[in-house]
Amino acid sequence: MTKPQAILTDATKCIGCEKCVDACKRENHLPDDLSRSWKVRIDSLSSTRFTTVVRHDGEYVREQCRHCVQPACVSACPVGALQKRSDGPVVYDSDRCMGCRYCMMACPFGVPRYEWEKAVPHIKKCTMCAPRLDRGLQPACVEACPTHATIFGDRDELLAEAHRRLRASPERYLQTVYGENDVGGTSVLLIAGVPLDFLNRGRAPGDRPLPSRTWAALSKVPTIVLAVGGLAAGTWWITRRRMKLAEMNAEALPDSASGTEAHPSGDGAPQDSREAVQDKGSGSGGHR
Ligand code: SF4
Ligand code: SF4
Ligand code: SF4
Repeated sequence: MTKPQAILTDATKCIGCEKCVDACKRENHLPDDLSRSWKVRIDSLSSTRFTTVVRHDGEYVREQCRHCVQPACVSACPVGALQKRSDGPVVYDSDRCMGCRYCMMACPFGVPRYEWEKAVPHIKKCTMCAPRLDRGLQPACVEACPTHATIFGDRDELLAEAHRRLRASPERYLQTVYGENDVGGTSVLLIAGVPLDFLNRGRAPGDRPLPSRTWAALSKVPTIVLAVGGLAAGTWWITRRRMKLAEMNAEALPDSASGTEAHPSGDGAPQDSREAVQDKGSGSGGHR
């Protein structure tokens, strides 16, 4: 079995070139960032930007999904669309997702984003380049970094490397490895010369894994609410299954026999006011 892997980002080595952002966009076929009226900064995480680099207290800090060891998003998802792999990545299956956005509410770092602009929206976030890991490659962002500010490897070895740097240059680093214990540990680790608490988006996640708290909170929700939620999930699954079968049947028929036409995609999805609130609350400025 593969040992748990991780990404270590050293903000003191980052020059803010955003080669990691560009590589991520290429790897995931992400379009240019949208300029949205309700967004304060174009360089924050979004459905078209799985990683970003922000200027904070004189250092460049790269943000992405932290790939928590015990992810709150996974425990909050009622249909198992998010899963934690034993080698580190937290991956997402859009075919299972029913669009409830519980993962967005559960994530302590405000990471998952929603494709509000799409007629059939999905959740979007960094996948730790799981398909590349399966091919024995490094994450694209790591491979692209010209200063090795962000590196990839066994989580235990990267933790040892982070502590070695902190010991060797105490004047350069805050004596904290972000992600070592936060919310029970994460598979993305950060070290820096300045505090990075702004990444918590005004919350105090602590060291305790969040899934236990998620279920403690759910246990206080009246049974009727959970039952209605379960019914909605079941109804959604059946509807989705019927739609898939209908699609498969239509594909199996010759064009003339199916009698169907493609529908133009619509718009008018609600806007993500939460992204704007999070961006305003991060306390860091964009550098573009
Ligand atoms: S940072 Fe958020 S989205 Fe990423 S694994 Fe943790 S809880 Fe899930
Ligand atoms: S690990 Fe892959 S998906 Fe995640 S930020 Fe890096 S390039 Fe993007
Ligand atoms: S590629 Fe490396 S140096 Fe450039 S912004 Fe990304 S992490 Fe920083």
